[in-house]
Amino acid sequence: MGRVALVTGGTRGIGAAIAKALKADGYEVAATYGGNDEAAKAFSDDTGIATYKWSVADYDACKAGLEKVESDLGPVDVLVNNAGITRDAPFHKMTPDQWREVIDTNLTGVFNMTHVCWPGMRERKFGRVIIISSINGQKGQFGQVNYAASKAGDLGIVRSLAQEGASKGITANAICPGYIATEMVMAVPEKVREAIIGQIPTGRLGEPEEIARCVSFLASDDAGFINGSTISANGAQFFA
Ligand code: NDP
Repeated sequence: MGRVALVTGGTRGIGAAIAKALKADGYEVAATYGGNDEAAKAFSDDTGIATYKWSVADYDACKAGLEKVESDLGPVDVLVNNAGITRDAPFHKMTPDQWREVIDTNLTGVFNMTHVCWPGMRERKFGRVIIISSINGQKGQFGQVNYAASKAGDLGIVRSLAQEGASKGITANAICPGYIATEMVMAVPEKVREAIIGQIPTGRLGEPEEIARCVSFLASDDAGFINGSTISANGAQFFA
């Protein structure tokens, strides 16, 4: 296959499942992370996938990071913008720092990484940009004004990018996961988790691999006509 995929936040949680799925599909994969060296080393030892550390919130670091990945593995054909954080607080208690940190990572981080990959994709007339947004970007969530704004912004990005990239062979799509059984969700008290599951008609949390399989499809040649779309993967948690 010979294609290269870069997964931001690819060393843990949903991103790790995505990186593994793309490797199994035959891509050369780079998994980036922000600071947790221990998790990155364990992931790399376990999977053999190359890991790279920089913050997606830092434009210059993204530019330098991409150069390093491309000199190691070749031009990046598939960019999965998965890195994301939460800094929850009810709006009246949310600090400007909590707002900025989330926007800088989840929204500006997507701009930064996509902006540095875009010229190469245009030149080669092929690219896949996939953003992991969230159900909470679609419906909003108590305590997540910052996060919901960032994830809703991601949906605006893909719809606009799709129109700009279409004539150059580039697609841009988003996936909006509902609650997924990552460390973060499994760490909440069992009672709270049960309450969360009670709101999911499917009666269970999603698995990271279920999101990874959506990415796998969107990255493939078969998905060439899907552009500017949002796939909701949330176990039938409908919202107005
Ligand atoms: P995790 O917290 O398990 O992993 C996050 C990953 O992103 C880590 O690899 C982390 O690196 C990396 N990261 C965080 N900040 C930065 C940064 N500034 N620069 C580079 N990398 C960074 O997250 P999840 O797997 O739970 O979530 C993945 C994505 O899916 C996120 O965008 C999240 O918003 C979204 N999502 C998750 C849901 C869920 O139920 N889990 C539901 C809906 C959406 P490090 O290890 O160094 O910290």
